[in-house]
Amino acid sequence: MICPRCDSEKVNLLTKSPVGGAWEVYICETCCFSWRSTEDDDIKDPNKYDKRFKIDKDKISELDQIPPIPALLEEKN
Ligand SMILES: [Zn+2]
Repeated sequence: MICPRCDSEKVNLLTKSPVGGAWEVYICETCCFSWRSTEDDDIKDPNKYDKRFKIDKDKISELDQIPPIPALLEEKN
């Protein structure tokens, strides 16, 4: 399986419906995107996922942290 958002192949099964195998939820190890097996193709198919929301997995480490983490305060004696 391929992540619809970042095209990574590192996708894991996160959970299943408690009864009847009605749905499964997958999570991407690379970008943390998660989706249900019952989503429409525009969510779960990497080729149909809205290109405006795609992420380049090679640039994830360069993305801003939101909210930004402030520098540690100096300890005062
Ligand atoms: Zn991903």
